[in-house]
Amino acid sequence: MTATTSTPTDFDVRRIRADFPLLARRVHGKPLVYLDNANTSQKPLAVIEAMNTHYREHNANVSRAVHQLGEEATAAYEGTRDKLARFINADSRDELILTSGTTQSTNLVAYSYALPRLQAGDTILTSVMEHHANIVPWQLVAARSGATVKAAPISERGELIVEQYIDLLTPEVKLACVTHVSNVLGTVNPVREIAKACRKRGIPLLVDGSQAVPHRPVDVQALGCDFYAFTGHKMLAPTGTGALWAKAEHLEAMPPFFGGGEMIREVRFSATTFAAPPHKFEAGTPNIAGFVGMSAAIDYYQSLGFEAIQAWEQQLLAYATERLHEIPGLRIIGEAAEKEPVISFLIDGAQATDLATLLDLEGVAVRSGHHCAHPLMQFYGVPATLRASLAFYNTLEEMDAFVAALLKVRRLLR
Ligand code: PLP
Repeated sequence: MTATTSTPTDFDVRRIRADFPLLARRVHGKPLVYLDNANTSQKPLAVIEAMNTHYREHNANVSRAVHQLGEEATAAYEGTRDKLARFINADSRDELILTSGTTQSTNLVAYSYALPRLQAGDTILTSVMEHHANIVPWQLVAARSGATVKAAPISERGELIVEQYIDLLTPEVKLACVTHVSNVLGTVNPVREIAKACRKRGIPLLVDGSQAVPHRPVDVQALGCDFYAFTGHKMLAPTGTGALWAKAEHLEAMPPFFGGGEMIREVRFSATTFAAPPHKFEAGTPNIAGFVGMSAAIDYYQSLGFEAIQAWEQQLLAYATERLHEIPGLRIIGEAAEKEPVISFLIDGAQATDLATLLDLEGVAVRSGHHCAHPLMQFYGVPATLRASLAFYNTLEEMDAFVAALLKVRRLLR
């Protein structure tokens, strides 16, 4: 099967691609086929222009100046918080802390929520399929408090074994963590079911939404979790942007993590009092232009609509998976029933890194390595995989080009 024989669709991917200047690039003399979207997405012109306009016309610091520019910059920055709150259906804008990304968000929860509560003998539960950003912060605070980190198992197909996750929710567990979508396997986890089990036992749940937010509508209230962390640069926004959503009751109770300007009510050497959330957690000058860009990224997603995005991405995923199965000796790692468009794989007799290097010479950008998921690699007994991660601006023809390049480089390595 090739792209020309597949079902036509009304998703106007040609028009959409024109919004992404970088997609027109050639790499090593070949048209770029960008399949490293789970690593970081490309940015539409609207995002690039929004940041440009901010620096050209509105640049000032936020929350500090009464002058016109300061008010404009503050309105734009705080406007992104409003937009993000609606985007993930938060109950209130004050439940959204703007961070530099998921890593800062999970570390904030580790040091501000978990550490003050943890005692020797306590447990933090995570899973085998997590990114290091949803493992290492818990290990760091566990080491300081005498707590331990446990990991719920997954099946060979790359699905979380939910019954076992729930069985592990014992009274020692003070925080449960899980990824919404795996960055390596593409697996979509049943977050609502997990959240329900956590609620029943009074255990707060943190969800790593890094790979979900770019692909599906997220409703934190419907999910029923306590914390939801995500990153902007995988969802069309600039690097250095992200957020932590947390239930207001947790944010009220959490002490600040970073101290400095903008997070205080009054500073005295005898005692300092802090601003209310979210500002209590946003010390120092934030990535203002980045969040201006993030606002444009959200607008862009909404102009396309997730229904159309999901339909197209699932078509791409099914087509690419089918075409990859044609390659002798290729094994897909991660065959969950519900997946976002991420395909990890191995080819017999070829190193993932060699394949990725040769694919690059064909203009195809994929990632090879452990994908910041060492425990998952250990589970599968491999040091690395190749990963093609797709976005709504990819085409069926690119999937054909990818498979053709793969067949070519595989021959070279024999
Ligand atoms: N969690 C998942 C599932 C990811 O895929 C990533 C990035 O690859 C992260 C966390 C970390 O995100 P960031 O580096 O933007 O903090």
